Amino acid sequence: MKDWLAHEESDVSQITQYLGTIKNKYNMFTAFLVSEKSHNYYTANGFLEKIDINNEHNDWYFSFRDKAEQSEVNIDYNKHMGEALIMFINHKIYDDNNNMLGATGIGLKTSYINEMLKFFRERFNFSVYFINTSGQVFIAEQEVNSLTHLNQHEELSRLIPDITKPDKQLFEYTMNGEAYLLTKKYVPELDLYVVVEAKVDNFTQSVQEAFYFNIIVSVLITLLITIIVVLYVRKIHGKLNELASNDSLTDLPNRRTFYSRLEHFIVMKKRRQQELAVVFFDIDDFKKVNDVEGHDVGDGVLIKIADILKTTIRTSDFIARWGGEEFIILLIDTKSEDALKIAEQVRQNIENNAELKHQAQKTVTVSLGVTEVRDNDDADSLFKRVDDALYQAKRTGKNRVVVAK
Ligand code: GH3
Ligand code: MG
Ligand code: MG
Repeated sequence: MKDWLAHEESDVSQITQYLGTIKNKYNMFTAFLVSEKSHNYYTANGFLEKIDINNEHNDWYFSFRDKAEQSEVNIDYNKHMGEALIMFINHKIYDDNNNMLGATGIGLKTSYINEMLKFFRERFNFSVYFINTSGQVFIAEQEVNSLTHLNQHEELSRLIPDITKPDKQLFEYTMNGEAYLLTKKYVPELDLYVVVEAKVDNFTQSVQEAFYFNIIVSVLITLLITIIVVLYVRKIHGKLNELASNDSLTDLPNRRTFYSRLEHFIVMKKRRQQELAVVFFDIDDFKKVNDVEGHDVGDGVLIKIADILKTTIRTSDFIARWGGEEFIILLIDTKSEDALKIAEQVRQNIENNAELKHQAQKTVTVSLGVTEVRDNDDADSLFKRVDDALYQAKRTGKNRVVVAK
């Protein structure tokens, strides 16, 4: 995407094919790309429109652009999609000099949230909807709840300042001569409040009973909704991470990125007669660090090791986090003997790093496997060999380098 945006967005079919693949692979409702330079909005169906700062439907882009965050979750109606309620996940794209090239993302239909809201209304006579801090209604049961802002009703309008106060949970008001109770809970993942509203008369004859019943059930429901929404957002974030090229903890390229880079180099090797080698390593007894010092310290160790790698390895080589506590390095123009030296250097730099030792409260060591890339190798045969070498290093005592046979 970066390259395509940098090259004048010339062949639109390239990008629409790519967006189509993302959309279908992850079963999304839409996948899109907006270019900062041309303001063109592309989807899997091709060029959609030119976004315009004066068009309120395009506000999302300009407000997202001006935010510090690299990504956001946004719930919106989309006029190109039959006014359906869509959950959008937007992600900024930058060039190597940190200039924003545009925004890409995916959209999911939230019809199942609508089903859930309907269930609460039919089953419990509760009206459930989501508002932002200023009182604007973001998610509500379509067809039933026509409220778009709390200020549309005088009584509700008065509640707006109090709704954002953490200590106040329960509100009472009357509308058209009927008494209502309202409770709310903040959902940080969405930066929205979920509101549960009930007509007092709908419960029992006794207002008193209804009052307590409402508190208990409302709290249960708000909790339930929060959990569902949070799980939903987490699932989406998981998908985004899969789509991302870098690991979020260490900021090293992830396995997928490494794999495609490696395949490219294997092809190039044949053409250029280039020597390539791979170093694969795993932290020794890392489980102990987590068990004794806690998971956060474990995370810190992973970050520190990534930093050590970045200073030990030439920038022309390629480092990635393979998974958990495993890292992999592709060494370009490097023979097996030199790869062994570099692996040994990595091993020593980690073992002798005082800061790392202090962090983990013990000397951290790694076991490494090394192999050169052979003529008939593909990515899988290469991994198998280097993984076997790593296994030998573990088996023969850890904290050592083994070159594959
Ligand atoms: P060995 O020397 O045989 O490699 O032993 P080990 O304890 O390092 O290996 P094992 O596979 O038993 O445990 C790996 C541990 O790494 C378990 C897992 O919880 C931890 N781990 C994996 N990913 C992360 C992470 O992102 N953060 C933290 N803190 N720990 C992680
Ligand atoms: Mg380990
Ligand atoms: Mg491991």
